[in-house]
Amino acid sequence: MNILVLNCGSSTLKFQVLDTDPEKIRTDGDVLKAIGLVERIGSQALCKFTATGQPPVKQALALRDHRAAIDEVLRWLLSDASQVDIHSLADLHAVGHRVVHGGERFQSSVLIDETVLEGIDDCIDLAPLHNPANLKGIRAATDLLGKGVPQVAVFDTAFHATMPEVAYLYGIPYQLYRRYKIRRYGFHGTSHRYIAYRYRTLHNLRKEQVNIISLHLGNGCSACAISAGQSLDTSMGFTPVEGLLMGTRSGDLDPSIIPFLCETEGLQLAEVETMLSKRSGLLGLSGLTGDMRELLDEERENQDRRARLAIDVFCLRARKYIGAYLAEMGGAEAVVFTGGIGENSPAVRLRICQGLEWLGLEVDPAANEALAGGATGTISRASARLKALVIPTNEELLIARDTVRCVEAGLTRR
Ligand code: ADP
Repeated sequence: MNILVLNCGSSTLKFQVLDTDPEKIRTDGDVLKAIGLVERIGSQALCKFTATGQPPVKQALALRDHRAAIDEVLRWLLSDASQVDIHSLADLHAVGHRVVHGGERFQSSVLIDETVLEGIDDCIDLAPLHNPANLKGIRAATDLLGKGVPQVAVFDTAFHATMPEVAYLYGIPYQLYRRYKIRRYGFHGTSHRYIAYRYRTLHNLRKEQVNIISLHLGNGCSACAISAGQSLDTSMGFTPVEGLLMGTRSGDLDPSIIPFLCETEGLQLAEVETMLSKRSGLLGLSGLTGDMRELLDEERENQDRRARLAIDVFCLRARKYIGAYLAEMGGAEAVVFTGGIGENSPAVRLRICQGLEWLGLEVDPAANEALAGGATGTISRASARLKALVIPTNEELLIARDTVRCVEAGLTRR
């Protein structure tokens, strides 16, 4: 089955076409046919489309909304020029959507129907920036592909549905949880689930035997305590702002800072909120950029003090979460790094692990240096009691596989 995987952000669209089915899932034989990105939807958009084995095609186009962007993707896929083995819309068998927030209602992936659409709409209060874009993507795909093509929603929050109350409740009046469902939801769930799955297959374990700390370090960053194969706790909370220091998000901070800033800087609440999610984190601390690779360059080439400080705060925060989760889990087997930074920066991985030797986490410097650019492997010494690994994430693969499973299950039910 050819599955179109769509990930709609506020002004971006990421897509992949994967050929997968129950047999391919069983044998890990899924095939990636095409991948692409549209940025700056709403103005002069930048498109980068790549068919597997072909050079990328880049172009700038005026695309006014997500519908226009998806239309462009479909045109390219169907064109002879793309060389993707998709010749008509009938060759696309289902669509899998990444949906950011499923609230307490969606605890696993679902086939989309009117009730599901309403459910996603109901979660807009919880994710006002993300869910509307996801809904636009679903509606546009329905318009363009027709109602006959099944669509599946895969939620970023779903993997964390197993968190116990003690992990998801905040220390605020309980009625606020009852009334507004204010609680930790956690995000990056599909990525952490993929890490648990890949770790399990690499080590030939049963799901219940997976006890690891997954560190997804990209522009957004989160840690997840995975105990017996399930999410026990995670660092992102009610929104993705909580937890680790990120590219532009602050991560954990004392909530009293917010009214203090409103008062002293004369800011509106919304301005502080924007500052905490768009101008904080690595960007805010360094005053330079939220991009880790650029900060590492600044630190190395210009000995920039604030670049170093930002990276140090980033690494300390990650190390603190490792410690906290080890305590919460009663020990773990491994720490797994993923995401753009986790997969590509030996320097950051080493700095995060420094000082954890007493716990049994000893990094093998040569193995660590050797792992970048999409490689999977172990970076701890063979003797380490707590292992460290790098596993490149692949959320799209799980979205495609969930789509197949939901569609198949839907067919059996009928
Ligand atoms: P997103 O969370 O948007 O999917 P990514 O997972 O691609 O983002 O991660 C982007 C981050 O990864 C950026 O901070 C980028 O600088 C960092 N990164 C990518 N490659 C490297 C590298 N070789 N060294 C250090 N950081 C890197």
